[in-house]
Amino acid sequence: MDYALLREMMVETQLLTRGIRDSRVLEAMKKVQRHKFVPEAMLGSSYDDIALPIGEGQTISQPYMVAVMTELLAMSGDEKVLEIGTGSGYQAAVLSELAREVYTIERIPVLADKARARLEDLGYNNVFVVTGDGSRGLEDKSPFDRIIITAAAPELPVVIINQLREDGIIVGPVGDRMSQVVVKGRKKKGVLVEEFHTPCIFVPLIGEYGWKS
Ligand code: SAH
Repeated sequence: MDYALLREMMVETQLLTRGIRDSRVLEAMKKVQRHKFVPEAMLGSSYDDIALPIGEGQTISQPYMVAVMTELLAMSGDEKVLEIGTGSGYQAAVLSELAREVYTIERIPVLADKARARLEDLGYNNVFVVTGDGSRGLEDKSPFDRIIITAAAPELPVVIINQLREDGIIVGPVGDRMSQVVVKGRKKKGVLVEEFHTPCIFVPLIGEYGWKS
């Protein structure tokens, strides 16, 4: 299969037509080999317009959702980024192309281990995978310039907002268990100024400051 061609088509038909404009984001999505992040049985669907199962009841997000959230982060290349919900590691790889340093947390050890190995194999050496409850953020590496939560929370946890620097941006799906909306917050004089974007469906953020189970 010509995966490079499939990636170009993905960018053309799924991202450009739906309004993704940040050229760095489009380039990154053209470059990152999504097929390396999906289970063998799903290879043929690697570049389809859907989320795919990755085991443990979790999913790799739809390419469009990755692009929307990444574009909302408005990165220029020098940022230190925190991702909560590593999953397959795909979103972390996209971030790695666009930022200086990426810390990503995953609560399910087997997924964290697989993602870490995969990212290392692919040479993403500015990504650090941490195993643990990301609903608390990652205090000892804070503050972050950007934070992305890729699991659904009832609200953006205050403890995580506290780890965002002044003028920093946080993006994540907020809502109930079955449906959410992508929220973007920018910290201005210590207060988060929020905007509401695309409706979405993410797996739940489970932990101390997320859902309990
Ligand atoms: N960004 C991922 C997809 C995320 S799916 C990708 O690109 O593939 C959401 C992930 O969040 C799941 O793997 C789930 O196990 C994880 N998760 C849920 N609650 C979490 C928590 N409290 N801390 C860290 N990870 C969590």
